[in-house]
Amino acid sequence: MNSTMTAAFLPGNSTVEMRTVPVPAPGHGEVLLRMKASTICGSDIRCIYHEHLGKGPEGYQGVIAGHEPCGQIVAEGPGCRRFKTGDRVIVYHISGCGVCNDCRRGYMISCTSEKYRRAYGWQRDGGMAEYMIAEEKDLIALPGVLSFADGAQVACGFGTVYEGLEKIGIDGNHAVLITGLGPVGLATGALCRKLGANKIIGIDVVPERMKIAIDLGLCDAVLASGPDNVAQVKALTGGFGVERAVDCSANAAARATAVRAARKWGKIVFLGEGGSVEINPSPDMIHDQKTVYGSWVTSTWLMEELVERLVRWNLHPADIITHRFPLDRAADAYALMASGKCGKVAVCQDEELTA
Ligand SMILES: [Zn+2]
Ligand SMILES: [Zn+2]
Repeated sequence: MNSTMTAAFLPGNSTVEMRTVPVPAPGHGEVLLRMKASTICGSDIRCIYHEHLGKGPEGYQGVIAGHEPCGQIVAEGPGCRRFKTGDRVIVYHISGCGVCNDCRRGYMISCTSEKYRRAYGWQRDGGMAEYMIAEEKDLIALPGVLSFADGAQVACGFGTVYEGLEKIGIDGNHAVLITGLGPVGLATGALCRKLGANKIIGIDVVPERMKIAIDLGLCDAVLASGPDNVAQVKALTGGFGVERAVDCSANAAARATAVRAARKWGKIVFLGEGGSVEINPSPDMIHDQKTVYGSWVTSTWLMEELVERLVRWNLHPADIITHRFPLDRAADAYALMASGKCGKVAVCQDEELTA
């Protein structure tokens, strides 16, 4: 192994800076991963790539980018208890203190330790490099039938969606509305299919994304975003509206549509980050007995459960990856993701690049 490696940094002016840095050595309880796949998230674009907007848990500290990493262990530090060299692993993308109440629930995303909560690609080095260091406690085993690109998709996007869908519950009685058909919305369609949803309706503004949702069979109907969306969704559902709605857009109008297009007793979950929404509680929620959930990322145990289900369902999250780039073209990968004219965008190495 070389002593130096290439890594991508995000200076915050819609560019990517490639630097040569030392290959790090794993410390106690840590492993060194050969990176195989690292996907780009909407939050990378929103909070880091264009400008450094994030504060607190979304504050980028000038580290190696990439919080959706998946790779293979090539070295272990002392004190590892389960994972070893050769294991294929997904990295749950926030490393918590491990001993606060949130960490003990597996929700390291919500770790309350200011000193020890550090997200990969935000406050500690992430996956946009040839190698990365991860803590063993943050690893999820990647089964042999799933690719590294499948795993990268679980690290953030599919995990986040699975959590939200578990909160509202999805079954064969349900018509589901998805507002926003970016990678998170497409993942919602894919998981709702496997959970047995009866009808899946998507809304977006980008024609490329609407087409991907239909071409991959992730939505039964796709609507262009507009003022008639609530009436259109009701027309597609016997005049009632959907039993479940998932907002993946963070757009104010789309969020209101998700709430208003849900039928009586409907459940709505907000996954998209940022922005605002204006609803009229009495007509939009209270009188129709609706529940709105917020859901942030997932827990390590639910991520492990999702991986098990993916195998059972023969569902490959990498199917919504539309573009793969080698590490030295990371700049092109971020620029494409920022354009929105794509599904998921991945930076890959070795066998994952040619897959
Ligand atoms: Zn993400
Ligand atoms: Zn903690």
